Amino acid sequence: MRALVVGRFQPFHNGHVEMVKTILKETKSIIIGIGSAQYSHTLKDPFTAGERHLMISATLEENKIYDFYLVPIEDVNSNPLWVAHVESLTPKFEKVFTNNPLVRRLFFEKGYNVESVNLMNRGRWSGTRIREKMLNGEKWSDDVPPQVSRIIEEIDGVQRIRDLAKSDGD
Ligand code: NAP
Repeated sequence: MRALVVGRFQPFHNGHVEMVKTILKETKSIIIGIGSAQYSHTLKDPFTAGERHLMISATLEENKIYDFYLVPIEDVNSNPLWVAHVESLTPKFEKVFTNNPLVRRLFFEKGYNVESVNLMNRGRWSGTRIREKMLNGEKWSDDVPPQVSRIIEEIDGVQRIRDLAKSDGD
């Protein structure tokens, strides 16, 4: 059985790695949809789809996980059409894992079997919290896999987020 999980992965963190490992105990392979693929260089979505693709593939391969397909998925301006849009981009899947109520609802209405994923160590392993830490100069690198912190360093990601937070008066 193949399962789908869609997230923005801004950035891909330790909670996401645990989620992938948990899902792969239940399914043969996993499709990881990189959501909101068209967005980057904003405080909510600082990293490009290509950067997120690299973060996920480098981390999973380092963890000797190879049963995954990475598919960047741009948003569409109609929620009822989104599931068909996802289906048009991905290999066939039988099950969907999500914690996002809208994603759950949209796949449920199309007849998919939808399950929740366990949110592990939510206080630390949250994309929003990690981006806040980067902005405020707090230590964040322990919350992401080493491959992700290396990529963020290579692309000057922390300074990118700080620049995005500046106003033209700064
Ligand atoms: P999500 O990945 O389902 O995540 C929902 C929440 O759960 C987020 O706060 C996420 O936090 C958290 N989470 C997920 N896995 C976790 C884990 N293992 N440990 C800790 N926390 C975890 O939802 P999403 O990030 O909102 O992604 C859904 C994507 O679908 C978006 O890109 C959205 O735009 C897209 N979408 C598009 C349409 C449309 O185009 N019309 C419609 C529906 C959805 P983190 O930030 O830490 O991951």
